[in-house]
Order: sequence, then C-alpha cells, then structure tokens
Amino acid sequence: MSTPQSQAEWTERYAGALMNTFGLPKLVLTRGEGAHVWDADGREYVDLLGGIAVNALGHAHPRLVAAVTDQLQTLGHISNFFASGPQITLAEKLGELLQGKLVEPVETRVFFTNSGAEANEAAFKLTRRTGRTKIVATTGSFHGRTMGALALTSKAAYREPFEPLPGDVVFVEYGDVAALEAAVDDQTAAVLIEPIQGEAGVIVPPRDYLPSAQRIAHENGALLWLDEIQTGVGRTGAWFAHQHPDLVDAPVVPDIVTLAKGLAGGIPIGACIATHGSGKLFDPGNHGTTFGGNPVAAAAALAVLDVIESDGLLAHATAMGARLRDGLVADPRVIDTRGAGLLVGLTLAEPKSAEVASAAQDAGFIVNAATPERIRMAPPLVLTEADADSFLAAWPQILDHAGVSA
Ligand code: PLP
Repeated sequence: MSTPQSQAEWTERYAGALMNTFGLPKLVLTRGEGAHVWDADGREYVDLLGGIAVNALGHAHPRLVAAVTDQLQTLGHISNFFASGPQITLAEKLGELLQGKLVEPVETRVFFTNSGAEANEAAFKLTRRTGRTKIVATTGSFHGRTMGALALTSKAAYREPFEPLPGDVVFVEYGDVAALEAAVDDQTAAVLIEPIQGEAGVIVPPRDYLPSAQRIAHENGALLWLDEIQTGVGRTGAWFAHQHPDLVDAPVVPDIVTLAKGLAGGIPIGACIATHGSGKLFDPGNHGTTFGGNPVAAAAALAVLDVIESDGLLAHATAMGARLRDGLVADPRVIDTRGAGLLVGLTLAEPKSAEVASAAQDAGFIVNAATPERIRMAPPLVLTEADADSFLAAWPQILDHAGVSA
C-alpha cells in the first residue's frame, strides 16, 4: 500500500478508520515548530489555538523534546506500586505554585491523571468522601466527557444522550453570587467553577465571584473546587487564573484545583490538587490509575513549568494577549474581546464564527468558533509579536471573506 500524501487521501482514510465523534478533520497536520504547523499538502499556518490551550511551549520545543527523550531513555513507565522523582518533584512544584503570594502556607496533596476529565473524576470522587453528595456547578460549564465529568457539564446536547448521569448536581447561573447563595447549603459537598469559561466562548465572571464563592462554600462547610484545566499553567498570564489580580478582587485559596491541557505542553497529564487537608479525604484503594503520574509525563510537565519561569512566559502571555485583543477589537465588526493573557475570546457583530474560522484557515491561521458569535484563541505562550501581527494584519480581510458586517 503506497503512503497517501494529500490531505484528501488522509481524510478519506480517517473517515474509514476512526469513529465519527469529531466530524471530519479540518486539516491533517504533519509537523509543527513554535506557533506554526504544516498540513499534509505542505501549507503553513499560525496556530492560534495551540491544541486547545495545550501546546504551551508551541510545537517541538527543544527543551520539552529533551526532557521527554531523556526521561524515556532513563525510566519510561512504572506502576503506581512505585514512585519516581519527576512525579514527586512535580507534585511539590504544583503545591509551591498554588501557594502564590500567600503568607500562610497551605498544605497540598496531588493526584495525577492523564486528562482533564480524569482530573475532574478524581475530584468528584474526592468530594463524595466529605459524606455529602450535592455539587453546585454553573450554567455554560464544561468539565469533560466521562460520565462523572459530563454530570458536571451543563450543555444539554452533550448530556442528554447519556442520561442518567451520576447525580446530585445543581446548575446555577455563572457569575451570579446571589444564585450561589441560594443554592449552596449544608448538604453541599462542593461548589465547582471555571475561573473563566473557555468552552462557552471565554466568559469572564465579575471579580468578586470567586472570592464570594469561597466565602459561601466555606460558610456552608462545602469545598471550593476550581476547574483550571483550561485556565491554569500560565494561560492567563498568572500561574492560576484564580491568582490573577484582574480576575479576582480578593485572595482565593481553593480546596481543590483541577489541571490538565497545558501542564505538560502536549504530553497527556492531568492533576487534581487538594488543599486545606481535603487531599487526605482519599484513603488507600479509594482511587487509582495506571498511567497517571507517569515519569515521562511528569518530566514533560516539569520542563514546561521550568521554561515558563525561565523565559518569562507569564509576562509574555499578558503582553501578547493585550496586543491581540487591542488589534482585534479595532475592527468595528468585533463587539468586544474577553479573557486574560493568551486565553482570548471575541464577540462578532454577526453570528458567523464558523465562516470566520474557515476564512482564517484559508488565510493561514487556526482559530476556534466556540459559539456562533464567539471566536476563541489559546495560542502557544511562545507566540511571537510577528505571529500576532501577521494575524492582525490579515484580520480585516478574514472578516470580509467571512461576510461579517458591522
Ligand atoms: N475542564 C475544562 C475547563 C476544559 O476546558 C476541558 C477540555 O476542554 C476539560 C475539563 C476536559 O479535559 P479533557 O478533554 O482533557 O478531558
């Protein structure tokens, strides 16, 4: 059998070999470097989606490649009967980063997984160990596709084909403090919130929302659980979105934080981090995983955290995000821009996001149509000024080609 070269041939093989959960792929990609990727026809794109907030260091970053290669050559996998240095060091490092600027040290415990949904499954099970079952989650939420994570996800189209889902989840309006006050009670195990809703199209709540959620949860003896799977690991210009001064008006110390996506820059990993002693709710045998905490994934995550620190990528993400937002909103066909750092959302004057994403792709840029009105971008944190500027220069024509009017 000869090796197909073109996207058309790959796409035909895809359709014959893979389950149709995602529809046909928009592109078949063959390689990447920095914030650039190339398709099977040899065409180059600026990747402004970064594997949906995953490729924090872009594609083929030499320090990530070296960390993975070295670890794989040294010790690739062990079971969780055993432990490895990278796993322990990563757990300690995440604990340190979660301390932020706190004066009082907070004890942390980590459970590693392979994905965001699994990190949320772990957290969901952890909340059951409080002896309570009720979870207060929010409208517009997205927490993953496993049965537990889906039970916490509000979108009816995702949920309904799989009901009944694990129970006792109540949804309240996102960003509404009074709705939380009304819903959280002494039966509530946890309040679950995304600091910015990514899948919903980059929705930023008022700055008092997370601090109020913390107060309300704790007044009722419930845990505050923040899903930072999309917003964590520098995406917003802070290590965690809940530490970002533009996003909160008072300090927040969540009881549970879930992470995944950008943590290892594309090597599968997730983490459920618990503070305030809630990490001790699990006893031996309560939860487990074969791959979670794998030395290669942990080494990759350590390399990502190290590069973010050494290359000043938090400040860079803040600067690049501002540059993109300012440039995009300069066009009158953009009603607003949202987000923080390099989690960038914008609202179009007309519900033509699919046309805009397609016109952007034709022009050599990858963006995401999050909702009919909203475009989302989550580019690599290493996005260069030149990459950002090339997109901004093309933006008016992209809107023209998509047929968007003011
Ligand atoms: N939680 C949030 C906030 C997410 O954005 C996602 C993925 O988009 C998930 C959970 C699920 O993560 P995964 O796709 O790795 O299971």
